[in-house]
Parts: sequence; structure tokens; C-alpha cells
Amino acid sequence: MRVSRSSRNTRDSIGSVSAPFNEGKEFDSLYREFNEMLHFVVRGITFATETAADLEEANEKEEVANLEGIVRKYVDMENNLNNKREAIDELRTKMNAGNKVDLVETFESLHESAFEEYENSTENEKYFQNEYYIEFRQKIWEVNHPDEAMPTLDGNDDDDIVMGQQKESLFCPITTLLFEEPVTGKVCKHTYSKDAILQLIRRNRNTVVCPVAGCDKHITEHDLIPNKRIERKVARYRVTGNDPMDDVEYMNIE
Ligand SMILES: [Zn+2]
Repeated sequence: MRVSRSSRNTRDSIGSVSAPFNEGKEFDSLYREFNEMLHFVVRGITFATETAADLEEANEKEEVANLEGIVRKYVDMENNLNNKREAIDELRTKMNAGNKVDLVETFESLHESAFEEYENSTENEKYFQNEYYIEFRQKIWEVNHPDEAMPTLDGNDDDDIVMGQQKESLFCPITTLLFEEPVTGKVCKHTYSKDAILQLIRRNRNTVVCPVAGCDKHITEHDLIPNKRIERKVARYRVTGNDPMDDVEYMNIE
């Protein structure tokens, strides 16, 4: 996109710009433009999120779904902008290292491979792990479920549409047994048996690093919300012996 402006200004040397590329100012103004555009995207997402929560309250499901589509487009834009910025970072590094670089060609190949990678990633990778998208879904969820933790976006409930493949465990990561009074942390959305996590928290001066492997979020008692949905699943599992999540793979619509 705006890299073309940079190349216009260096037209006489394009094709084989020798390092050190002494145009820090050009890069600085490029970065400024990226930041402005990112800011614009984030503002759009924030506005869509607030509007969607209001519409959810008015039960305007179709409008909410439309806004969700818009937020996904914004997330795509955010990704695209970040990819371009990273391509420019890399370009700058190459030039500073003294390499001869074809500005446009190098930028385009760097950006294209990142773009392709994004295009080929799953819905789960694109959206369900994006902080803005999660926030959007969270705000809508809270309208009708103020006291209940939001299900993980790639999870599934029997009457929900399945969008991802990851299974949601019915077993506590601390006790490794079936959940007893499952509670979910607000921050990282991991779930534990209530007594088990409370014991850990109290033993550690009222805050503990999430015991789920790979998670580094701090948990306090205050962050925990009862997870009735998982509790129902565990109850069902105790009765039937069937893990309700076993069906997920067959229902996947992705
Ligand atoms: Zn966690």
C-alpha cells in the first residue's frame, strides 16, 4: 500500500538501493501511517462491539450477526496491516545489514507469504484467538449471561453451532478428576474445580499463576466465575458415561 510512496521518493535508486539506506524519516512516517490505520481499525471494532451489545439487548439477532461479520473484516484488516508492518521491519533490517534490496519486490514477496499464511489459516486461528474478536463475543455474551462464563469460542455445547475442533475437557487440570463445581477464570478462561483452585490461591498469598500448562496468567479468587455449562456437562457425563464432546468432530462445519 503506502510503501509505493516510499518507493516513489527513492525512484532514482529503486531496483538496487544500497545500504545503509539513509531514509529513517521515510520509515518513520510509514510507521506513523500504519499506527493511524490500526487505530482506525480498533476504533471501528470498539464501535461495532458497543453497538452489537445494545442490539443484543434489543434481541436484534440479525443485526448482531451483521456486525459480527464486520468485526471479522476488521480483524482481517488488522492482520493485513500488521503483516505489512512486519514486512517493512524485515526490509529495513536487510537494508541496514548492508544488503542490496529491491524495495518493492522484497516487500511484496514478504507480505505475500504472510498474507497467504493468514488466508490458509482456520477460523479458529484467525478469529477465536484474536483479542478484539473475543472481546466482541464476550460483550454480547454478557448481555444475556451476566453471571456465567462465556464458553471458549472453539468449544461446543449441544445446542450450539460447532466452529472449531478443540475439545473442552471435563477434567480439572489440577486434580485431573472430573470437575467438581467448575469455575472459570475471567482472564484466561481456564476452568478448574472450585476447591482445588481456591486451595492453590490461598496457599499462595491470594494469587497464583494459572496451573494450566503454558498459561502464565495470574488468578485470584475474585476472577473466578461458576461455570454452570461445564457443570451440566459433567453431570450428564456422570449419568451417561458419554463425553458430550466426543461428537464434536462429526459436527464440525468448518
Ligand atoms: Zn490459564
